[in-house]
Amino acid sequence: ITGGFVEGVAPEFPIVIEENFTFYNVDLDDGPMTGIFLDQKEVRKKLKEHYSDNRNILNVFSYTGAFSVVAADNAKNTTSVDLANRSRPLTEENFGLNGIDPKSQYIYVMDTFDFYGYAKRHDLFYDTIVVDPPSFARNKKKTFSVLKDYDKLILGALDILAPNGTMLLCTNNSTFSLKAFKKVVKETLENAGVAYELQDVMGLPKDFKTHAHYKPSKYLKAIFVKVL
Ligand code: SAH
Repeated sequence: ITGGFVEGVAPEFPIVIEENFTFYNVDLDDGPMTGIFLDQKEVRKKLKEHYSDNRNILNVFSYTGAFSVVAADNAKNTTSVDLANRSRPLTEENFGLNGIDPKSQYIYVMDTFDFYGYAKRHDLFYDTIVVDPPSFARNKKKTFSVLKDYDKLILGALDILAPNGTMLLCTNNSTFSLKAFKKVVKETLENAGVAYELQDVMGLPKDFKTHAHYKPSKYLKAIFVKVL
């Protein structure tokens, strides 16, 4: 996607936006990656209000740490994991904007699957694990596609989920229907032999216009699932 403005010039970086009493840096001149995905605003609010209190939070594919920052307000601690080097300073800045010392939080520049292994080896467990991956990703020789590989993301998270913990599983892939996504979640957990409960199933906020006769326009799926 090439940059371009309908009118005016780009504001000087950074501009700071406020969403539900939380502040985030936004760069309007960096293509579709502006620093925050607004379509997840209600999911962030839900995470903060129902799944963060006094919990250890893990956020994989954390990008600028938006889920971590909103959760950190009342969490025990947060851990953010992203493969891209630039995610670290962006995440630190977002913590700082909200009066949270970034040194008080854990940030890893690491592949999610490598982090799962690391956490397992070190007996790290999390009460809430946020999984909001890109539809496709490549790391070294491995490729990852949410359509084919979401089960692996769930199983890796399951290994390091604390008792009665919650996973927030998201996908923004328009070709992955809610029905198919739910099926993957259910079958993966059933085959793993764990009992679970779907707590909240969310999609796009109301002010994100979709087309009634074009289902893929409702691309966002976010499922909070508790493992008993
Ligand atoms: N969950 C984020 C958005 C994710 S964007 C949010 O709430 O804002 C996708 C992110 O996944 C990018 O920052 C990219 O660097 C990261 N990523 C891609 N492949 C990865 C991998 N294998 N392990 C960890 N992070 C990865």
